[in-house]
Amino acid sequence: MSTTTTKSTPKIALIGAGPASLTLASLLKCHDIPFTIYEAASSLRHAGGTLDLHPTTGQAALKEAGLWDAFVKHARPESDVMKLVDIGGEVCWDENGADKQEVGESEEEKFAGRPEIDRAALMKILVESLEEGSIKFGKKLNEVVPSKTEEKKFNLVFADGKEEGFDLVIGGDGAWSKVRNLLSDTKPHYSGISLIEVWCNDVKSNPWLRNYVGNGSCFSFGEGCAILSQRQGDGSQRTYACLRVPEDFIETCSIDWNDKDAARKEFMERHFSHAGKDLKRVVMESTDYLIPRTLYELPVGFTWESRPGVTLIGDSAHLMTPFAGVGVNVGMTDSLVLAHEIVAACKGKKSLDEALQAYEKEMFPRAARYAQKTAKNKKGHFTEGGSKHMADRIRAHYEEARKEPNVQVDRAEGVSSG
Ligand SMILES: Cc1cc2nc3c(=O)[nH]c(=O)nc-3n(C[C@H](O)[C@H](O)[C@H](O)COP(=O)(O)OP(=O)(O)OC[C@H]3O[C@@H](n4cnc5c(N)ncnc54)[C@H](O)[C@@H]3O)c2cc1C
Repeated sequence: MSTTTTKSTPKIALIGAGPASLTLASLLKCHDIPFTIYEAASSLRHAGGTLDLHPTTGQAALKEAGLWDAFVKHARPESDVMKLVDIGGEVCWDENGADKQEVGESEEEKFAGRPEIDRAALMKILVESLEEGSIKFGKKLNEVVPSKTEEKKFNLVFADGKEEGFDLVIGGDGAWSKVRNLLSDTKPHYSGISLIEVWCNDVKSNPWLRNYVGNGSCFSFGEGCAILSQRQGDGSQRTYACLRVPEDFIETCSIDWNDKDAARKEFMERHFSHAGKDLKRVVMESTDYLIPRTLYELPVGFTWESRPGVTLIGDSAHLMTPFAGVGVNVGMTDSLVLAHEIVAACKGKKSLDEALQAYEKEMFPRAARYAQKTAKNKKGHFTEGGSKHMADRIRAHYEEARKEPNVQVDRAEGVSSG
C-alpha cells in the first residue's frame, strides 16, 4: 500500500468525452487541477436523446461544478410526465391528463423529480465549462501500457501515435473501454434486448403523434417486447421498438436496414402485429431515421482489484441497459466522488493510490445497486402486463406520498431513452 501523501499535481488523462468524463473534467477544473481529455471522435457527439437527471446524483454533480444555472436554463421539468400503455393499446396511466399530479412552483419542487435535459444540451453545458483545448479530438486509444522507463507511470497508445508519462489514467470510454483491459478481462455481454430507434424530427408537423405521446415519455411493455417513445427538447421525438431476441438478430433477421422505410414496415409487421394500432402508428410515423441497436451490459456487481494509476468511470465501469434510466446519473456520481478523492490527493491529504481505492470502495456497491435495479426492470418490464404492473406501482407510490407528504415519490422505475 502506498503511503506517499506529499502535495503534488498528477498528470491526468481522461479517456473519452462522454458525460462522465466531461463532468469529472468540469469538477477538476473548479479546483485548478490540470487534465487532458482524449476523445476518439473528431468532434463532440451531439446525437442522443433526453436524459433525466436526479437530484442526488446528476443534478448534485452539476451543482458542485457550478453549472446549476445553466442546467435550469436547459432542463425541462415539464417533461417529467409519464404515459403507460398496455401493448394491446389500453392506456393504463397518463400524467398528461387524468393522472396529472400537482407539482409545486418553487425551483426546488420543480426539480425534485427527474427533469429531462437533452443529451446535446448537457454535453454543451459541460464542454463550455472547460478551457478551450481541454479535449483532444480524433485520439482513438488502442492501449494503455505501463512505462518501462518511469516507475508508476503509464503511456497511451493511440491509433495515430503515443503520449507518455501519466500518473493517472481514467477510463470514461464507455462500453468497449480500452482502459478496462488493464484492470479486468471481463467484457460486456449481450443483454438479451435489441431494438430499432426511429425518429420524428419535427413533431409539430404531426399533431397526432405529438398528442398521443404527450409532453414526456410514453412507454408500452409486453411479453418480450416494448415500444418506448419520448419527446425531446428540440421538438423531435424518439421511439424505440425493443425485442427480446438472440444477439445476432440484427444481422441475421434478413431485414435490409439500409432501406429504412421498408425495414420499419417489415420489422413492425413481423414482430409487433399484436400491438395496439396507435402504438404501431407511433413507430410507423417516425420516419426520419432508423438505427438498429444491440444492447450490452457488464455483469451486475462487476469489480476489479484496485491498481495504482488507473480507474474507470461511467459505462466503462458499469455498463447497464437503459431500463432504469440511470446510466448517466451513476456515471456523473462517479465523477463527483472521484473528483473529491483526487482533490484530497492533490492537497496531500492522501496518496493518489488511496484516493482511487476510496473511490472504488464507494462506487462498487453503489453501481451494483443500480445495476441490480436495472436488471430487475429488464426482467419485469418485458412481460405480459408489464405496463399495468408499472402503472400499479406508480399509483401505489403516489398513494404513499399522499399519506406521507415528506416522502419523495420515486416513480421512475422506468426507462429512459438518452
Ligand atoms: C439506447 C440507450 C438509452 C439510454 N438512456 C438513458 C437515460 O435515459 N438515462 C440515463 O441516465 N442513461 C441512459 N443511457 C445510458 C447512457 O447513455 C450512458 O450511461 C452514458 O452515456 C454513459 O456515459 P459515459 O460518459 O460513461 O460513456 P459514453 O457516453 O459512452 O461516452 C464514451 C466516450 O468515449 C469515447 N471513446 C470510446 N472509445 C474510445 C477510445 N478507444 N478512445 C478514445 N475515446 C473513446 C466515445 O466516443 C464517447 O465519446 C442509455 C443508453 C442507451 C444505449
